This record gives sequence, C-alpha cells and structure tokens, in this order.
Amino acid sequence: MKVTVFGVGYVGLVQGATLAQAGHEVLCIDIDKEKVKGLKKGVIPIYEPGLESLVQENYKAGRLNFSCNPEEGVKHGYLQFIAVGTPPDEDGSADLSYVLNVAQTIAQYMDESKVIVNKSTVPVGTADLVEAEIAKVLEQRFSDSEPQFSVVSNPEFLKEGAAVDDCMRPDRIVIGTKCKQSEEALRELYAPFNRNHDKIIVMDVKSAELTKYAANCMLATKISFMNEVANLAECLGADIEQVRLGIGSDPRIGYHFIYPGVGYGGSCFPKDVQALIRTAESCDFNAKVLKAVESRNVEQKNILYKKIEKHFSGNLKGKKIAIWGLAFKPNTDDMREAPSRVLMESLWNAGAIVQAYDPEAMKEAQRIYGVDEKLILCGTKEGALKGADALVIVTEWQEFRAPDFELIKENLSENVIFDGRNLYNPERVKDKAIKYYSIGRVAYT
Ligand code: NAD
Repeated sequence: MKVTVFGVGYVGLVQGATLAQAGHEVLCIDIDKEKVKGLKKGVIPIYEPGLESLVQENYKAGRLNFSCNPEEGVKHGYLQFIAVGTPPDEDGSADLSYVLNVAQTIAQYMDESKVIVNKSTVPVGTADLVEAEIAKVLEQRFSDSEPQFSVVSNPEFLKEGAAVDDCMRPDRIVIGTKCKQSEEALRELYAPFNRNHDKIIVMDVKSAELTKYAANCMLATKISFMNEVANLAECLGADIEQVRLGIGSDPRIGYHFIYPGVGYGGSCFPKDVQALIRTAESCDFNAKVLKAVESRNVEQKNILYKKIEKHFSGNLKGKKIAIWGLAFKPNTDDMREAPSRVLMESLWNAGAIVQAYDPEAMKEAQRIYGVDEKLILCGTKEGALKGADALVIVTEWQEFRAPDFELIKENLSENVIFDGRNLYNPERVKDKAIKYYSIGRVAYT
C-alpha cells in the first residue's frame, strides 16, 4: 500500500521503516531539512537499536523515501499518517498546533479520497478537530464534489529503546474508527504484523484516543506508587527490592514496571500525565490519582540530589561528581525530561562540577547544555571517575551493572556511590568498603 508519514521523529521514522520492511511504499515528510537530507544519506537522527540498517536497506530498496515537499507527500499515500510532536503547552495541555498544521497541509493538497491516520498522542476529541480543519479547507477549495476523507485514531505504543521490535511485533493495534472502509484499509496495512493471533482492537475514536493516555498514565502510576513505597521502606528500615519480589509474585500485580528509581522521564509519561490532568479539568473532573502520580514524580527526580547534599553536609561547592547515565532510560539517546537533567542542574546550582558518561546520549547532552566548564563529558565510564569525589548512577545501562569496584575506590576521593537504580547488592558494595546509597534500602555510610 502507499503510505505517507508526516514527521520523522521516534514514531514516524520507526513506523515508516517497519511498514516499508513489510513491503509497503512509504514516503516520510518532515519540515526539518537537515534531518531529511541526512536520512537520504543514511544518517539516522536518533539512536534506536536496529533502526539504522532497517532505514538504509529499505531506502536502498526504494520502499522508503524522504522528502520535505508536503504536496508530494499528500499526493503519494492513500493513507496519510500524522506522527508529529504534541509537546506540552505552558499549562501542561497538549499543544496541537503541529497536528493541525499537518491537517491543513493534507487538506490543501488532497484531490482524491484519503484516510488520515493519527499516530500522535492527542487528547480526546482531536480527531474531530482534525476532521473540522480538513473540511474547512476543502470547502474553500472545492465548490462541490469535495474528495472524501475520514480521520482514524491509531495510537502508537512503541517504547523508545525497543521501538523497532515493538513495531515489528506489536502487543496490540488499536484502531479508532466507525468507518468500515478505513478499518479495512488499516487491517490490510497491518496484516503483516498481525499473523500470529489477532492483535487488532477496533473501537470508537474517542476511546482509542483515551486508550493511549490511559496506558501511559497506568505505567506512570505504577512507577510513582513503587517510588512512594520505596521512600517509605527507607523510613521504616525495610528493603524495597525484597518487597518488590514479594508483591510481583502475585499475578494480579506482576513483576513488570515495579522497579523503584529516580522518577520517570522521557517525552511521553510526564507530558501525557499532565495532558490527561488538563483534559479532566476541561470537563470539570478532578483527576486526583494522576495529580498525586505527577507530584510524587517531581519529588522523586530530586531524591538523588537530596541524598548527595545530605552526605556532603550541604557543601558541594567545587565537588566533582561522576554521573553514569544521562538518557532517561537505557538504549536511547533521548534526554527529554530525564532525571539526570534535574540532578545536574541542582548540582550546578550548588557549585558542583559534573563529569558524565553515557553510552549514547553524550551528543544530546552537548546539544542541550553546549560547552560548559561545569559539565565534562567523558568517553568512558572509567574516565568519568578520574578525580571525582562521588559516583552517581542515574540510568541503568547494561554496562554499569558489573563495574570494577576496586577501580571506583581508587578514583573516588570520598569513596561513595549514589545508585538511583539499585544496580548493586548493598552487602557486596559494603564488603568493598565503599559507602553506598540506593533507593528504598538501608544506606551503608
Ligand atoms: P519527535 O519530536 O521525535 O518527532 C516529531 C517530528 O515531526 C519532528 O521531526 C518534526 O520536525 C516533525 N514535524 C513537525 N511539524 C511537522 C510538519 N508540519 N510536517 C512534517 N513534519 C513535521 O516526536 P515523537 O517522539 O516521534 O512523537 C510523535 C508523537 O507520537 C507525539 O504525539 C508523541 O507523544 C507520540 N508518541 C511518542 C512515543 C515515543 O516514545 N517517542 C511513543 C508513542 C507515541
């Protein structure tokens, strides 16, 4: 099938590449000229396992193409995917300007029947807005016999860091539409990904839009709940890791997504929780649980700083802090809303210097903070330890799980680790005569 994807970010690029891999003819449109130029040369603007070869192979095979020309994009596909950003507005509600902009573009150039598929995460009711926007422009362009169209909600559930795999083998494919013809078109499109058992769930548009928010908010709730219990465990002298195993064994709870840590980040959970709170407010509904989830998360992002500040009795001026992990989670270079940023900014405010290492997010850190004498980016995790006073682990990259504790001890003047991801066995670290703070467990100092 011929598919156009507006937006070559995490969602658009991965979705476009996987659809092309399945044999569809995909044209991706973006307003970012540099990105498009790079992609045509095989330069992938983001880090996502397996994405580079997938894009390069499908581009070479002619099934995947890139362009900045929206008219070409609208003419190409019967299916027009919207996969542009929906960042938070100042009040936390979703900014729909990019989505509506694409809707206008489609309406401006379409002269035959199209199915508009919304992949961006958008508040309930957005499909109606997109439909109205397109209808308005078409009315101006055609005096009669306007081309037919329908707007479908098809939210994306991929996880950054495993995005290619998630799109190749989705858990579910939610299609929000009442239009049988559009449903059939999407069933045909996704047939290659729907072979094992039927993963397609068809529902009304508003329910599909809400499903995406409900999924992300449920996951954010699990994280904030676990962080709350972890903080309580610390107060009580209990061990959250043992509690985690104890509760996870109940199949109604399960082991997934109940790891305590330094709060959720990334481009989705923080903004989606906020956006659903704002959506609730718009219909005079007080989303009490979601507000608590958000406020726990804001505090949790500060938890490592508080531990560090207390350890150093508030005297952080001139201290050199080694940080392992800048990305908001492993296997991505994404630092949007990352807990590492909250920590680094607090450390800088207190006069400390950060010496950081991340396997993939160093370029992104440089892009965000520029060249700054308070942020020293190191090529290896060992390099980040040199001359540092303390080590802080913020992201649970695989390569941080079995470090050389002797080397850590040799390098750190204060001989202390602050572990925001509970990567190590506290007894083992204690045996190495290193002071150890983690989350929801007794500290060894
Ligand atoms: P992103 O910021 O990585 O990419 C958005 C892209 O859209 C950018 O390249 C931008 O240049 C482009 N763009 C903006 N306006 C455009 C226009 N008029 N025409 C063409 N391109 C345009 O965003 P993302 O992370 O891919 O997220 C996209 C949407 O999907 C958001 O609503 C997000 O909430 C949702 N989502 C994201 C994830 C994720 O893990 N990143 C997962 C599921 C859903």
